[in-house]
Amino acid sequence: MSIIPNYKGLFGDFGGRFVSETLVPLILELEKTYQSAKLDKAFNNELFYYQKKYIGRSSPLYLADRFTQYLGGARIYFKREDLNHTGAHKINNCIGQILLAKRLGKTRIIAETGAGMHGVATATVAARFGMKCVIYMGNTDVKRQKPNVYRMNLLGAKVVPVTSGKGTLKDAMNEALRDWVNNIENTFYIIGTVAGPHPYPVMVRDFQSIIGYEVREQIIKIEGKLPDILIACIGGGSNAMGLFYPMINDNKVRMVGVEAGGKGIETGKHAASLNGGVPGVIHGNRTYILQNKDGQIKDAHSISAGMDYPGIGPEHSYYYKCKRIDYVSVTNKEAIDAFKKCCYLEGIIPALESAHALAYVNKIANRLSNENIIIVNLSGRGDKDISIIREHS
Ligand SMILES: *Cc1c(COP(=O)(O)O)cnc(C)c1O
Repeated sequence: MSIIPNYKGLFGDFGGRFVSETLVPLILELEKTYQSAKLDKAFNNELFYYQKKYIGRSSPLYLADRFTQYLGGARIYFKREDLNHTGAHKINNCIGQILLAKRLGKTRIIAETGAGMHGVATATVAARFGMKCVIYMGNTDVKRQKPNVYRMNLLGAKVVPVTSGKGTLKDAMNEALRDWVNNIENTFYIIGTVAGPHPYPVMVRDFQSIIGYEVREQIIKIEGKLPDILIACIGGGSNAMGLFYPMINDNKVRMVGVEAGGKGIETGKHAASLNGGVPGVIHGNRTYILQNKDGQIKDAHSISAGMDYPGIGPEHSYYYKCKRIDYVSVTNKEAIDAFKKCCYLEGIIPALESAHALAYVNKIANRLSNENIIIVNLSGRGDKDISIIREHS
């Protein structure tokens, strides 16, 4: 299976670099720097140091015994990304990118954020490395996500509310690209998922792949074999790609990405770019996106703010087309139900995003035997989501 994009950053028909000409030299420089960093021992040692001492890696692979008993089928393991510093997987990527920013001699960091989680992770690493940080956030989201805005401020970041368009994530992405064009000398753009122009999708995937490499080693140590099924939720697709990629050539390992079905695909109120979208261009790459009949990008809907990215990483579009990975969707209601089960059966409050993956486990575990192993990525912790759950109870 060809899993490396070509020199244009294309995974089959998807990916590439759809950016203004001003950005092309910058992106080529980033690609070159990334290639050299990947082969540089000092860079890798430094990355390893921060993964271990700052993020707290490796994260445990935990047998969810009561969840397993309750569902009565496959043995279910949780990959505990919720235990990372800042409470989710996003920091894996932010640490990697800020080290690249440093290598490039940049002093100012920008990012876009929807719910604020990527903004918080970015502000965190910017503080740690003493860099200026500006976060673009849709005006609507600024109002909805006050605690995260305050968190970013505490960490020294400036949050810029974006009022163009509908004032949501896609408008913030456009604004961040615009800032980058205007400040190319000193600014590094940290993208939060496996999207954006090449080389971002590959770079983010590689930084998140620590998840899957650890899992592979951990499960062989515990069970003496690879898992039958890997399951992860999909917003833009970075925690899923991080889990899947290191086992993509292990053909017997089935992989399932779980999109946010919102109120149901048929209602149009969802965030399922593959199950309910069409190919188009967004955020500098070609991929499946949510768009209306006039070709306008639609805002995604999900009860979980981290899931409502209106596109999906181009590499996922590729695996969807060639059927290496299955993509399903679960509804808000199913995710809430799984969220609650995880709380009272395991004593773990999962992120509502991760609860989408758990909801799919819920659906299939009892069709399998206890010889079978399911590994589900617990991408983050759910403290941030408790008020949403309370409203829907
Ligand atoms: C942002 C986020 C997601 C979705 O993003 P991906 O790029 O699809 O991983 C999932 N879980 C948590 C906890 C998040 O914060």
